[in-house]
Order: sequence, then C-alpha cells, then structure tokens
Amino acid sequence: MDILYMREALREAKKAYSTYEVPVGAIVVYNGEIIGRGYNQREILKDPTAHAEILAIKEASKYIEAWRLLNCTMYVTLEPCAMCAGAIVNARIGRLVIGTRDPKRGCCGTIEDLTNHPKFNHRLEVEFGVLEDECSSILSDFFRELRESK
Ligand SMILES: [Zn+2]
Repeated sequence: MDILYMREALREAKKAYSTYEVPVGAIVVYNGEIIGRGYNQREILKDPTAHAEILAIKEASKYIEAWRLLNCTMYVTLEPCAMCAGAIVNARIGRLVIGTRDPKRGCCGTIEDLTNHPKFNHRLEVEFGVLEDECSSILSDFFRELRESK
C-alpha cells in the first residue's frame, strides 16, 4: 500500500517538475482515501510557505473540517524541512512516509528530528525509503536539467 500511495505523491512531484518548480509532492491519506494533495509551488505562488506538505495539509484539513489529522498518514517524496515538519506535528499527523532524505534541510531525522522530539507533545511514526530511487532521481534530473539550461 505504501508504494501505491508514494506513487501518488510522485505524481504530484511531477506536476511541480512540469511547472519548473523543485519536484516535491505530498499526499494525505485517511481511511484509505486521499484527502489532500500538494506539490511545491513556491515560484508560481511567490510564497515561501507553498511547500507540497503545507498545501496537502491545508486541503486535508479543509476536507475533514478539522485541524487535527490524527489518523492520517502523509506520503512525501522528500524529507520535510523544519517548517513542514513543524506543520506535520501541529496537524497531529499519525504517520509519515518519506521517499528520500534531504541532507540539506531534512528535519525528520537527518539534520534534526522534529517528528520525535522528546519535549514536544506529539510524536509520530516515520518511515524512510519508500520508492527512494524514483523520489531522488526526479530531483537530480530536475537540477541537472536546470544546470544544463543555464
Ligand atoms: Zn517544507
């Protein structure tokens, strides 16, 4: 099931790719249903908070008409940054499945771990490496293309 849902997150990442945004995608699943989708839209919206995870959380909260996403799972192609990891904790998401690590910004265990901070009142289950090759190659393809176009 995780692989299936990560494919959906990758589908979101591809939307970002096709609009020249850094290709990161996220979805939120509740009771087997996708209730939120998002892809990075920082450039097009000119908004530093328009990361895939934030947009997916907003859509999911709107859908279930609550800010708590307790029994939800988020699938995201790239390890969330400090802002998104914070939003995931604030949304009380129960489980987080990550495609690939972000050595420069990852705050779910790589640089810092906001998802299981001993002093926070919410901790969640985090899994890494689902469709890792696809999730990381879409990023390296994007940055290679960007360098070549310059
Ligand atoms: Zn982020």
